Order: sequence, then structure tokens, then C-alpha cells
Amino acid sequence: MYYKDKTVIYLNGEYIKASDANVNLYSQTLHYGNGVFEGIRSYNTDDGVRIFKAKEHFDRLHYSAEKMHINLSISSEELEKISYQLLKVNKLKNAYIRPLVYLGENMSLNECNDVNIVIMAWEWGNYLGSNQIKVMSSSFQRPNPKSCHVEAKVVGHYTNSILATTEAKNKGFDEALLSDNEGYVAEAPGANFFVEKDEVLYTPPLGNILAGITRQTVFEIAEELGIEVHEKKFKFKDLKNIDTAFFCGTAAEIIGIKSIDHYEFPLKWENSISSLIQRKYKMRVSKNEFQNVYL
Ligand code: PMP
Repeated sequence: MYYKDKTVIYLNGEYIKASDANVNLYSQTLHYGNGVFEGIRSYNTDDGVRIFKAKEHFDRLHYSAEKMHINLSISSEELEKISYQLLKVNKLKNAYIRPLVYLGENMSLNECNDVNIVIMAWEWGNYLGSNQIKVMSSSFQRPNPKSCHVEAKVVGHYTNSILATTEAKNKGFDEALLSDNEGYVAEAPGANFFVEKDEVLYTPPLGNILAGITRQTVFEIAEELGIEVHEKKFKFKDLKNIDTAFFCGTAAEIIGIKSIDHYEFPLKWENSISSLIQRKYKMRVSKNEFQNVYL
């Protein structure tokens, strides 16, 4: 599904066939989850294939690595160039790009100096589809920010995400919404969360969530459109008073939420300012309404 016979990946300085790559089974990442990664998208824009906010993603990869004591020596500029090269050799246009920084052989819990980087890319449509989705308030909470760096994109953190999504799917929902360790609404397993009330947007503040790059783009679009956005803590019970809501993330893009725990939001999606943001986001990524710094 993710690669074919001829698919090329980048691994530690070389472009090789995905089917020829292998990994050391004593990798510290494989056993203990200490690795960092990114999820990035490219779009076939009016000006050719462009990676959306490449610099922001690779800078966050560096941030995550630093938090996990992983020495990532390759620059964001270089990583962006490699990603464009991968898109070219694999003839990808609307693709998902996955850089993964993983560690080598180390069965102890000590810092590991054997740092590897792989970048893979594949053609990928909407992660959560394009219809409004049915969401479940998860019985799982996001990790306690005192137990790990929640604002970093770390491999091991995603066991929490997998548990929440699996629970939601098994109960007939499309996706989960998790609270933080204080019981406030936090985020989805792989996306941030916004609510709309009286044409104003609200989203949980940073601290217990991943600082999403799409979340930041929503702030930018809202400002351009003159829409107010506030960072605010709220509880699940407060969601009974809102007009509508959405998730946003690189993979999910902007996806409207129909209901939470079967409670349907009153405002029709088409009439919401959230849907305006959704349309504007699509235009922004596909019309290359953004800066590419290292081209
Ligand atoms: N929260 C979590 C837990 C995520 O995994 C993601 C996806 N990276 C997001 C939010 C959204 O972040 P971004 O917009 O940078 O993709």
C-alpha cells in the first residue's frame, strides 16, 4: 500500500529502493519508542508540486529530536531538498512525506548516538475522508506533560493515539477526542480541535497538546478573514453549547465534526465560518498561497 517495487526512499544519505531497506532489530526506537518523526504534505499547485510549510515541519523535527536527546545533524534546508528529490524520483504530486529519525542498536535506556534518518513518501488522499465525522469522547487522556514532552512528535507517544482511535472505531465512531490530564478537552489522536460559537473560534491552548502546524495556519487564515480566535480551556460538557467544531492536521486537513457522543451540532456545516476556513485552507495549499523558502 505504501510502496511498490520501484519506490525510492532516502536513508542516511542515500536514495535506495524501499524494498532493499532494512532495520536493525535491536533498534532502541523499535523497543522503547524513542524516535521522532513528522507528517508533511505536498500538493500539486498551479506552480507545480509544492511541500506545504516544509520549513515549519523540519524545524519541529529538530525540536522533537532535541527534546529526546537525539542528535540530528542534517539541516532543515537539506531535508527539504531531499524531500523534493524524493517526490521527483517517485513521480509523486499530492503526497504524504514521512521523515522518521530512529536510533540504532541499544537495549539500554541510555542516550543513543547511532542516529538514522529515513524519508518516505506516498500518494495519499484525505486521512479522515471529506464528510463530517462522528466523534467519541475518549476514555483515554493525552499523556501527562510531566511524563513526556507532549509538544514533541515522538514515536512512543502514538500508542496513546492508537488506543484512542481503536476504541472509537470499535464503538462505531470515526475518530476520538481526548481530554488532557486535567480533564479539559485537548485534541484528537492526530489532529487539533477547534469549536465555533457565534462566529468566533475557540481552541485549547498549548501546554497539553501538539503545537499543530495546521492549527497555526487556521490562526493565519482566521486573521486574514477577520474571524476572531481565542485559546481557551473547556470541558466536554461545554460542547453542548457550541454551534459546530472541526479537527485540523496535516493528514486530516480540516474536517468538520457532525456529532460528539451522538450529540449533533445544531449549525449546518455549509453555513459555518468553520467551513469557510476549510475552503480557504484547501485554496491555500493547492494554489501555492504560501512561501517556500528553500526552493
Ligand atoms: N496533534 C497530534 C497528536 C498530531 O499527531 C498531529 C499531527 N501531526 C496534530 C495534532 C496536528 O499537527 P499538524 O497540523 O502539524 O499536522
